[in-house]
Amino acid sequence: MPNRMLKFVDVGQRLPDKRAAEIRRKDFDEIYEEFDPARAGEQAARCSQCGVPFCQVHCPLHNNIPDWLMLTAEGRIEEAYELAQATNNLPEICGRICPQDRLCEGNCVIEQAGHGTVTIGSVERYITETAWDRGWVKPVKPPRELETSVGIIGAGPAGLAAAEELRRRGHRVDVYDRYDRVGGLLVYGIPNFKLEKQVVARRAELIAAAGVTFHLNFEIGRDATLADLRQRHDALLIATGVYKGRDIKVPGVGLGNVVPALDYLIASNRWGLGEQVPAFEDGMLDARDKDVVVIGGGDTAMDCVRTAVRQGAKSVKCLYRRDRINMPGSQREVAHAEEEGVEFVWLAAPEAFLGDDKVTGVRAVRIHLGITDATGRQTPQPVPGSSFTVEADLVIKALGFDPEDLPSLFDAPELGVTRWGTIGIDFRTMKTSLDGVFAAGDIVRGASLVVWAVRDGRDAAAQIHKYLLAKQTAGAPSADRAVA
Ligand SMILES: Cc1cc2nc3c(=O)[nH]c(=O)nc-3n(C[C@H](O)[C@H](O)[C@H](O)COP(=O)(O)OP(=O)(O)OC[C@H]3O[C@@H](n4cnc5c(N)ncnc54)[C@H](O)[C@@H]3O)c2cc1C
Ligand code: SF4
Repeated sequence: MPNRMLKFVDVGQRLPDKRAAEIRRKDFDEIYEEFDPARAGEQAARCSQCGVPFCQVHCPLHNNIPDWLMLTAEGRIEEAYELAQATNNLPEICGRICPQDRLCEGNCVIEQAGHGTVTIGSVERYITETAWDRGWVKPVKPPRELETSVGIIGAGPAGLAAAEELRRRGHRVDVYDRYDRVGGLLVYGIPNFKLEKQVVARRAELIAAAGVTFHLNFEIGRDATLADLRQRHDALLIATGVYKGRDIKVPGVGLGNVVPALDYLIASNRWGLGEQVPAFEDGMLDARDKDVVVIGGGDTAMDCVRTAVRQGAKSVKCLYRRDRINMPGSQREVAHAEEEGVEFVWLAAPEAFLGDDKVTGVRAVRIHLGITDATGRQTPQPVPGSSFTVEADLVIKALGFDPEDLPSLFDAPELGVTRWGTIGIDFRTMKTSLDGVFAAGDIVRGASLVVWAVRDGRDAAAQIHKYLLAKQTAGAPSADRAVA
């Protein structure tokens, strides 16, 4: 099996032209205040050490936040870093892109008291960036090498966290990914202005340096079946994420320039990485000078509207069928989008996309939120006679993601899935219906967050280790294998 090379790109060196430089400048020229590293100690010192660490409880990784804040306030950054990395495989990434307002910071006691949260995410980022600058970040080194081999399908945050944790315990680890770069949605979904791609590449290099082998451009279902991989490895982890964009069933949905969110974001990210992207260069997936309408109210919709602003769109509108309070996206992201000039059209849903060949407008209808349904949310109901038209020459559908049909794709009909198509696991052991096959991340939870994927990857690694140990103790598959 070929071990394809990792491909890391220095974005700065490969920008294709002046237009790239223009977008890139906008990427980092945020109009809201950037975190000032010089203030990390000052921020950390604001922690009241309240003794009821709600921040820690609401961090999916249960990071020891109060202690690393205290160490930072005392200037003991190396110790703060040691503590931060002990529970998180991607601390500088979570520090940048966790929706902290819903997790750690939203539950800070100082925030609850109305004095503004300690900026926990920014301090986590500062601690880890300092560690990188000073050379404290090192590849994991297992105490001894084991004979056991684990295959991981998917090099997103769940796969990466599991790979590092399994290497730490001494297993051989091979990661397979259909993309040409390591990182999953960290590279191709999340835009550059939220997460610089060099930050992901740096982590991937570190994990490779720990002895993890990456097989890129390798798709399970095309280049191998699940059964092939089960033959090659003692255990497998499926961490393939969710990629099937939800569609909208209204007239005109097939018109030109009505595009799925991920196509739009992947094109933008690939182009930003210096690649040739014909669909961007011929203008179809470039928002410059266009009236852009994004349909949806989640974080992906926010990434689309903010990317369109940076590409120089004439106007950017976000159509969402519920109101601001009921939108799933981070309120912080909405506030940023508004500051950047995005117009939110709340309580509105598309009825039809207009145009002959390419889209020229969206006919929408006003929505009234009716009675609460079984999920506890008010049902959106169209208000009769309230239709209106919004001009558009690019429409981006950001309505969420579903899992692909993995049992068919993997040629493994016996792989159990839930009624939503996510992989069914035993949540205590993270095992699927197939012996020795585990699953983690979005493919189990449905579309979620990076920090949850990291948590799942870590948990899965612990369970796989336990499984291999038990298998060895039982004398199978080979008595000479040593699992610590
Ligand atoms: C546009 C967008 C913006 C987001 N922004 C944020 C954010 O700001 N903060 C946040 O916390 N979360 C955000 N998320 C969610 C977050 O990215 C995901 O929850 C997280 O990446 C899930 O990790 P994962 O490892 O489960 O899957 P992924 O990151 O999706 O990685 C799965 C990997 O599996 C590979 N793969 C899939 N099928 C196969 C196959 N058959 N063979 C080989 N490889 C395969 C894929 O190529 C991919 O690399 C965002 C998501 C999107 C779409
Ligand atoms: S991982 Fe995310 S939720 Fe946890 S402390 Fe860091 S920023 Fe907060």
